[in-house]
Amino acid sequence: MAEGKVSLVGAGPGDPGLMTARALELIAEADVVFYDRLIPPNALAGARDDAELIYVGKMPGTVHNPQSEINRRIIEAAEQGRTVVRLKGGDPFIFGRGGEEAEELAEAGIPFEIVPGVTAAIAATATAGIPLTHRDDSAGVAFVTGHRDAEAEQGIDPDGSLALFPGTLVFYMGVKRLAENMADLIAGGRSVDQPAAAIERGATPRQRVVTATLGTIAEKVEEEGIRPPALIVVGDVVRHHEKLAWFERRPLFGRRIVVTRARHQAGRLAAILRGQGAEVIEMPVIDIEPLPMSGDEIGDGIEILLDNRDGLVVFTSPNSVREFFLVLFAAIQSDARALAGWKVAAIGGSTARALAEHGISADIVPEKAVAESLLEALQNQRLKGRQVLIPRAEKAREALPDGLRQLGAEVTVMPLYRTVPVTPEESVLAEARKADAITFTSGSTVENLLAAVPGGLAGVAAISIGPVTSQAMREAGIEVAAEAGQSDLEGLATAVAEALDSAPPGGSE
Ligand code: SAH
Repeated sequence: MAEGKVSLVGAGPGDPGLMTARALELIAEADVVFYDRLIPPNALAGARDDAELIYVGKMPGTVHNPQSEINRRIIEAAEQGRTVVRLKGGDPFIFGRGGEEAEELAEAGIPFEIVPGVTAAIAATATAGIPLTHRDDSAGVAFVTGHRDAEAEQGIDPDGSLALFPGTLVFYMGVKRLAENMADLIAGGRSVDQPAAAIERGATPRQRVVTATLGTIAEKVEEEGIRPPALIVVGDVVRHHEKLAWFERRPLFGRRIVVTRARHQAGRLAAILRGQGAEVIEMPVIDIEPLPMSGDEIGDGIEILLDNRDGLVVFTSPNSVREFFLVLFAAIQSDARALAGWKVAAIGGSTARALAEHGISADIVPEKAVAESLLEALQNQRLKGRQVLIPRAEKAREALPDGLRQLGAEVTVMPLYRTVPVTPEESVLAEARKADAITFTSGSTVENLLAAVPGGLAGVAAISIGPVTSQAMREAGIEVAAEAGQSDLEGLATAVAEALDSAPPGGSE
């Protein structure tokens, strides 16, 4: 039997972007993952389909799994020869009981690996613009727990040494006993006027930062209703927050945006929106399904490709690029070399990028990501009698093939895939209804959203990637709140920010 192994893995503070490459590798390999509550959304998206994912965190209002029970199950899984990931919020060794779990593994003789994570104190102060050390203000930093076990009820600083620590103090789990802890520090000799901050849900789209002084922070936290998970930072470095706060100033901070594209395609748009501070709700309403390869048109297209050396292939979307190369490989075990001599046109920057991933630099990328713009760009090319291939979706506008035929080209359309509707889960839909904006990247996202959610999302600003999608929206009775000036994902993100600029956050809530 294979030897089991356990990896104690830190998942960082809650932002999927702050997980380590090693964490993602191990999750992708694991037979079983035991995970906690404070892990990033979609942290487990890369797990194998057959991996067992077991929640072992606390659930509000329920009896949670005692530590001994968790340890027992982890050891049992490893003893069965399984590859186990124990995924914890932040860093496993910072107030995460990782030390205790590792000791048990060592005692049981089970091989283990420990993968550090970005701990909350590091992440939340970076996003709050509070440098933990600073040449002028702090020569060191201490991570401290805000409360200890019941038997140690003499407070966090019984001998005053914490108060005298010459640097920044960061309290984890610091909300519950905040007033007592601050009073202890003051009693120990820290200045009542020293700056202090509370950071709630740091490094996430719901981050809140409040600042005060050692003497007033408890009251301020109470007033503002700051709730765990939160950190308390005490030290002169807190005064930098005002100047260095950058996180909340990003254009989409605090906004919730729905992405409707197919799951495998949603990544880049979601990343762009998250980069601008948004909380992204991925609600794919379509999926891509390849058409059977037996279709005549596919065979014809491939024959034309092989028989000609001076044709033009027009790719209209990243999907068409992906499916084209899959078909090329499956049908004739070939690749980009089959295109030797052919000119290649791409509609849209993301289509050009998808081609680049196959080592092809598009010869023609029209200014605007629409068929009309490509036809304009091709006006002066000699197309008469030339073979033109259009690999694309089953259903698409005829403007492109029609226009090319008018220019005298011999056009062959290769329908490679169709989009199929996906019905969103109730819980995702409930989140989406509370969003600030919903993005549409194609006519089929519009059509399928309406099929899944009759009437669409009332009160949620609908943003379109370009004129064709906007028209589909209007025809479907969806008001276009904004349209991307430049028909690509970056343009779409800009349009979202502009549309929401003056609106209060929270959509219809
Ligand atoms: N191992 C974790 C800490 C677990 S203890 C780590 O290294 O980060 C749980 C405490 O961590 C919470 O009570 C809170 O004080 C802090 N915490 C975790 N995530 C946080 C976040 N995103 N923002 C602020 N504090 C956080």
